[in-house]
Amino acid sequence: MQKLTVLGSGVLGSQIAFQSAYRGKDVVVYDINDEVLAQLPNRWDYLKPLYLRDVQDATGEKLDAAVGRIRATSDLADAVSDADIVIEAVPEVLEIKQETWAKVGELAPERTIFATNSSTLLPSDIAPSTGRPNRFLSLHFANEIWRLNVGEVMGHAGTDPEAYEAVATFAEEIGMVPIRVQKEQPGYVLNSLLVPFLSAAAVLFVRGVADVETIDLTWRKSTGAPMGPFQIYDMIGMETPYHLARNNPDPEMRQFAEIVKRDYIDQGRLGTGVGKGFYDYS
Ligand code: NAD
Repeated sequence: MQKLTVLGSGVLGSQIAFQSAYRGKDVVVYDINDEVLAQLPNRWDYLKPLYLRDVQDATGEKLDAAVGRIRATSDLADAVSDADIVIEAVPEVLEIKQETWAKVGELAPERTIFATNSSTLLPSDIAPSTGRPNRFLSLHFANEIWRLNVGEVMGHAGTDPEAYEAVATFAEEIGMVPIRVQKEQPGYVLNSLLVPFLSAAAVLFVRGVADVETIDLTWRKSTGAPMGPFQIYDMIGMETPYHLARNNPDPEMRQFAEIVKRDYIDQGRLGTGVGKGFYDYS
């Protein structure tokens, strides 16, 4: 599969497009917002130094060539007309995803395989709206895909095994380690492990059992892991954990959300992205 179309060019869509182009794919990026598309050159300029820092074989020349393989459009019919694979990274709202896929299902060639990057929705929630559910599945990336290069491949009960394997192979071709998820699971493998782990750390903190540094130190020293849970919170950024915690039925998690808002978000301590969160990275 050489020709990729990415739907949505926000945080993850732009990374998927750039990474795929870097690994030699021909990429079309679609977004409904022309302003977002106009900003894409800035996005590539932001990513290039990160590749030079983190990706062993990156050179200025290769990065420029990657940019040359990307075309942007806000015309959906044009975007998908010759796609081998479409990867969708539009907002995490079921109705937006269903509407988008319904249109793509009518416009894309018969051979095209469809994948969603959704973090929390199941492929079976979206598959019927595509008009070709057997060619639809999830390919879930982690933020900073050039560095944290996993691609969780997860079908639904009706996904054609051939489409599943084609997507796993594609993930490998663009430099991901494919994680074959054998059955539908909310949160895939990664978040099924990570969310309870981070929540347990939050509860220890809220109860005053140990401070942030001690909780992280315990985890690092006893398991050999490079990061403790609060370092991971900093890496993710405070906003997503805050929204998850404030809607949690557990009152201790809601208390954690209040602390995160008051002592971190409102103080501009948003995580490693801004140089400070639970820790100071200056
Ligand atoms: P984002 O808000 O940064 O980007 C979404 C983009 O979609 C925006 O550019 C927006 O203009 C565009 N858009 C809105 N409606 C559209 C439509 N109808 N058609 C096409 N484009 C449309 O969001 P994001 O963080 O990139 O997340 C996108 C998807 O990726 C979500 O499903 C999310 O669960 C998943 N994801 C995000 C992360 C992350 O860390 N941000 C990690 C893994 C998966």
